Amino acid sequence: MNKIYQYIMIGAVAVGLSSCDNDWLDLEPSDSVITNVKTLSDVEFTLNGIYSTMQSSDAYSGRLVYYGDVTGDDMQAVSSTKRTANAYLYGFTKSNAPASYWRIPYEIIQNCNVILKNIDNIPVGDDEKDKLNDYKGQALALRGMTLFDLTKLYGYPYTKDNGASMGACIVTDVLEKDAMPHRSTVAQCYDQILKDLKESTTLLGKKFNKGKLNRWAALTLLSRAYLYHGDNDKALDAAKQAIEGAEDNGYALWTNEEYPTAWANDASKQKPGEVLFEIINLTTDSPGKESLGYLYNPGGYADGCVTVSFYNYLSKDKDDVRLKIINVATKDKYSSSSVYGRAFVNKYQPQQGENVMDANIPLIRLSEAYLNAAEAAAKLTAAGNDHNAEAAEYLHAIVNRANPAKSVDAATTVSVDKVLDERRKELVGEGHRMFDLLRNGKAVERVKASNKALSKTKHTCSDEFMTIGLNNYKIVLPIPLAERNVSHLPNNPGYGE
Ligand code: CA
Repeated sequence: MNKIYQYIMIGAVAVGLSSCDNDWLDLEPSDSVITNVKTLSDVEFTLNGIYSTMQSSDAYSGRLVYYGDVTGDDMQAVSSTKRTANAYLYGFTKSNAPASYWRIPYEIIQNCNVILKNIDNIPVGDDEKDKLNDYKGQALALRGMTLFDLTKLYGYPYTKDNGASMGACIVTDVLEKDAMPHRSTVAQCYDQILKDLKESTTLLGKKFNKGKLNRWAALTLLSRAYLYHGDNDKALDAAKQAIEGAEDNGYALWTNEEYPTAWANDASKQKPGEVLFEIINLTTDSPGKESLGYLYNPGGYADGCVTVSFYNYLSKDKDDVRLKIINVATKDKYSSSSVYGRAFVNKYQPQQGENVMDANIPLIRLSEAYLNAAEAAAKLTAAGNDHNAEAAEYLHAIVNRANPAKSVDAATTVSVDKVLDERRKELVGEGHRMFDLLRNGKAVERVKASNKALSKTKHTCSDEFMTIGLNNYKIVLPIPLAERNVSHLPNNPGYGE
């Protein structure tokens, strides 16, 4: 039996039609298996199950986010025995790479496919058409997002070879037992990712929808995918639509004053803030101690910390508000001596009354839409199509929010590197850095640096992984052994079959 299929059945079990109320935030898995959806309630429950799967610390409450951080130059594992260490050390081999990086996204995709296969056959009255469209949009956006993440993890950046190399398996139907998916090229994966995300943005609702994807989140994600695909004009257009639409619907960049603590806000329709999509974690429905909140906290597992070079870089401007969400662990603040001399990202702040492990996980922020727009505009300008005024406008919003004494005026030439430097400062700890470097044709350059406050923070990776370029085979993960044993999918080059 094909292993993807086996993984998919596990996913279907986890969804369940168990909950008697509609409180998806607190969904309990059951033994029920959904293979069909016949009503909008079935669709809603299946979507809830997907969000619940995403919430796992093996998925978006942990691993799928920290991977892009600690494989880069701005964050690292605190020591070689930490949970984030294998990713930081590029230590994954053909036999030890966790299957969850592969399994969970395919569980999500399978359940999206159950919805998408059947949703157009659900009879609804005129008053329910918007709801049906929104649900369909969520399923498409979630499938696109998940395939995007699989393609980033298992396929080389599109820009390396125009997507000629092997990517993930594209699965757009509910798989039968005898199905044997094959690996598509990265280019084919992006065609599917962009198709799903684009269609989702025509269907999704426009309003704040707590813990769920709406149109502005999907448009921001679409702009991100266009950047990865090298479609800068489309990336700019999607990001602009996301910004305008989100702000028309009450979202706004956090102010300088709000920034240090806004991460702990429990967003509401009245005050949605700038998080367009987040994983909601609660004390009653917690991902536990393997979650980012606990992993990145010096009072928790203190597993991943910022590098000295990043801290020095951000500290060049002492008035940058983002220094306030870098928590330098000192003796007077923490009892465990193992955390002194290190600094931690404090973006995963628990909501009121919660433990740190219950912190929500923002996955798509309005700040990113601004940075996507600025990057796309700067790239268009560099290619001879002048969008410099727009690049300056969008970059200014982020620069000026970080330090109101700073600005970017329209006369400033905004280089791509200037935008990427700002992106690095704004999105640290949110899973982007390694991918941002590689998709822009840059190597991960880890730097040995010193700072008294971070006296214990040293790079502990081998010299071989102080610089990781596009030709290093370890920039993509190996296909999990369990999968290859059954489905005989080819492994990524360099890992061995
Ligand atoms: Ca929470």
